[in-house]
Amino acid sequence: MKLETPRKERHMGILDSIRTLTELNKELASIEAKRALAEVIDDLISAQTRIAELECEVRQLRTQIQFTAEVVHKDNAVWTKSGEGPFCSRCVTVTGKPVRLIIRNDGYRRCPECKDEPQTEEWERRADAAARTRQERVRRELE
Ligand SMILES: [Zn+2]
Repeated sequence: MKLETPRKERHMGILDSIRTLTELNKELASIEAKRALAEVIDDLISAQTRIAELECEVRQLRTQIQFTAEVVHKDNAVWTKSGEGPFCSRCVTVTGKPVRLIIRNDGYRRCPECKDEPQTEEWERRADAAARTRQERVRRELE
């Protein structure tokens, strides 16, 4: 059975190793040995930094995957099952990133991230009706 070392303990283990190696480096006599050990310490610090970056990325991706699995697509947008939204369907689908749509007072929606403008079917019906009314008015004025 494989037991995983908790992340915090693993980080402390690496930091302790770096401290130990740094102390050991002070006691080394030869310049070459000191230089070689200093390079090992630098490599360890770089690896530790990269591990921290990757762990952060994994946490973000897990959050995105969990969000994507728990949403409902309706009316040209994405909603959480608890009713939060609307989020941009395009951004959630392409990047997994929940970007909330900006909604004007007249109901017009726009994504601040990808600039998509996914309107509700009701908003599009009202916009089409308003456009037809304007066209009708212009046609009557021209007659
Ligand atoms: Zn978007």
